[in-house]
Amino acid sequence: MNVFNKVSTLKEFVNNCKFSKKTIGFVPTMGALHEGHLTLIRQSKKENDITICSIFVNPTQFNNAIDLKHYPIKHTEDKALLEDAECDILFLPSVEEMYPSGIENKNLVGFLFGDIEKQLEGAFRPGHFNGVGIVVSKLFHMVNPDKAYFGLKDLQQFLIIRKMTKELSFGIEVIGVPTVREEDGLAMSSRNLRLTSDERAKAPFIYEVISEMKNKINHSQAPKEVLDWGIQKFQKNTSFHLEYLEIVNTSDLKPVEPYQTPNAYAIVIAAHLGKVRLIDNLLIE
Ligand code: AMP
Repeated sequence: MNVFNKVSTLKEFVNNCKFSKKTIGFVPTMGALHEGHLTLIRQSKKENDITICSIFVNPTQFNNAIDLKHYPIKHTEDKALLEDAECDILFLPSVEEMYPSGIENKNLVGFLFGDIEKQLEGAFRPGHFNGVGIVVSKLFHMVNPDKAYFGLKDLQQFLIIRKMTKELSFGIEVIGVPTVREEDGLAMSSRNLRLTSDERAKAPFIYEVISEMKNKINHSQAPKEVLDWGIQKFQKNTSFHLEYLEIVNTSDLKPVEPYQTPNAYAIVIAAHLGKVRLIDNLLIE
């Protein structure tokens, strides 16, 4: 695997791929890689000639400076995992390389995604999706992939990037990959590394509750009743601080009531466990 730190080196490589008509699959990440990321890499390898993974902890998408400061950095381990997965290229730029004019708002171009960014993560992390839009569009211009892979664990991010890619005519196929979970159901996440062992033991509660909610929905229970049940479960469990729990339409992420068929829904959740903010979702199709 080649590791590129410079945009110019990456672009030269990409131009050569294009010249020799090799297809490029792209997996953008923030590192501290786990099986979820590696699943995206493996899918890209199956569907493209060349797979490029990027690791960049993007400061413009963090609305919380403490979260940014504590974001795990594990470049040595990440490189070894990517080598094992036979990833072709790791793009590992510095903040200066990605943002030569700096990251102050006055130097950034902004994005407005409309209604879809206003609820859920967008409501609790102001500016987050603007930062995601900026970095993903920069990376798309640099990597110029045929296909780009995103986890459905970050459902709202996936929907926003798919919309941006279509509306801005990037000509890239955006592919959503199902959430990879630990054996006990906890959605894999780099942030899980920050849980204490006691918190880690408690964390699967999130999946337990949303799975039972999905079960109730599949047995035709009314959304309001199912939602009230889920919220009560969290009210009774003082280890968690619930930020949001909703049953939403996957088209616009607005709350659904009553169910209309045929349609697709998702149960979406964000909750704090100790100092760690965890998100998860389950699709109901
Ligand atoms: P991150 O490094 O957290 O920014 O994630 C990079 C990519 O991996 C994003 O598209 C995530 O949605 C995806 N991802 C993270 N965790 C998982 C998971 N447990 N299952 C599937 N994809 C994931």
